[in-house]
Amino acid sequence: MFDRIHEECGVFGIFDPAKTLNVTQITYSGLYALQHRGQQSCGIAVNNEGKIYNHNDEGLLNEVFNEMILNYLKGNIALGHVRYASSENKGRENNLPYVSKYTKGHIAVSYNGSLVDANTLRANLEDSGAMFHTNSDAEIIAYMVSRERLKTESTEQALMNIMNRLSGAYSLVIMTPNKLIAARDPRGFRPLCMGKKGEAVIFASESCAIDAVGGEFIRDIKPGEVVAVTAEGINEYTDKCGQKTSSCIFEHIYFARPDSVIDGQSVHFARQEAGKCLAKRDPKDLADIVIGVPDSGLDAALGYAAEAGIPYGIGLNKNRYIGRTFIQTAQSERENLVRLKLNPLPAVLKGKRVVVVDDSIVRGTTCAHLIELIRHAGATEVHFRISSPKFLNPCYFGTDIPSRDKLIAHRLTLDEIRKEIGADSLAYLEIDDLKEIAKDSNVEFCDACFTGNYPINVPEEE
Ligand code: SF4
Repeated sequence: MFDRIHEECGVFGIFDPAKTLNVTQITYSGLYALQHRGQQSCGIAVNNEGKIYNHNDEGLLNEVFNEMILNYLKGNIALGHVRYASSENKGRENNLPYVSKYTKGHIAVSYNGSLVDANTLRANLEDSGAMFHTNSDAEIIAYMVSRERLKTESTEQALMNIMNRLSGAYSLVIMTPNKLIAARDPRGFRPLCMGKKGEAVIFASESCAIDAVGGEFIRDIKPGEVVAVTAEGINEYTDKCGQKTSSCIFEHIYFARPDSVIDGQSVHFARQEAGKCLAKRDPKDLADIVIGVPDSGLDAALGYAAEAGIPYGIGLNKNRYIGRTFIQTAQSERENLVRLKLNPLPAVLKGKRVVVVDDSIVRGTTCAHLIELIRHAGATEVHFRISSPKFLNPCYFGTDIPSRDKLIAHRLTLDEIRKEIGADSLAYLEIDDLKEIAKDSNVEFCDACFTGNYPINVPEEE
């Protein structure tokens, strides 16, 4: 509705060997910090003496969980998930964590990413007798791990054995009757990090979730690494590490929270850097004020303002309380919805030439309304700046960047887009700038949605 790309999941897990913490409450709080990664469903599975109890449903955390449910989920290992459902995997059966039982006991899987060969894997497994109840890649992984576990001495070894057969993005946290296991695909497409709280070990999609539960960040899970936590301690396996990495650069531009640090890079500073890169390509006297489109445009707008020497202002007020139900009922009133969500401040904008920084343009459906509102609030010029390059290609690694024909930058030239959205000028981040924005990172990046250079083989677009 708001012409935004969605991340398809956030994961959280905690193992408290001392059994002194309320792991359910901590997981709930950790997921709260990851709610931006998925708002359509959520779930928590808790391990109580080897038995796993699971609760998940459609909705935000505060809609799905209440005190009674949280009190019911008791144990000392917990696994959580927030999910954005793509068009192929809508439906309650796909809510995570995925929980199953086999001869070695329960297995629960929280998952962020997307397997590029999921359909082939599923078909091959079905041909050999497997039955699947969901469309989730987590079920495929749970099934493959469980089957492999029958031939190996541990779940983590089973997981490492099947990693060669998985292609794509997967940041996983797996819970067994007596372990919590984290794994990141060898390319490191999606983030995953480790922290601690007292004696408890935590895994989370982003460091902001570890901060939110009063934990201490330890480190990122390395691309290809498997880490297994038991009551006896932590075992780290790096056999699958060392491949060329392709971490998602768009995590830094838009998906992740600015207070997260991913693979050594502060997201806040990456966004600021993107804003500075945009400013370096513009005349210094282009505008009187720089504003950002909340939330992910704000950091980049700060960077732009600092580099250009133009005052930064809060020109758009975001209403944070527009729920899903309201959005569903207001589908036909896009303009009103933009206005309700983002209200311009005439006191800041009136009589000003304004640089507006946003993180991306996908279909271009809401920019025109936004620019109209800013003009209506009194801006004399609107210069739209985008802190990412043009989206030209779909993503196969766990986001919902759509097919090329739906991407405005694939259909129209820069000037045609500018005219369509009604801006006085329009500029995107250049591909070369991507190298500049995350210089502190210790991994290499995927930029396929901008460049078309896919780091692994992907399906042909239909
Ligand atoms: S294609 Fe784009 S969104 Fe997808 S992983 Fe690569 S950089 Fe991220």
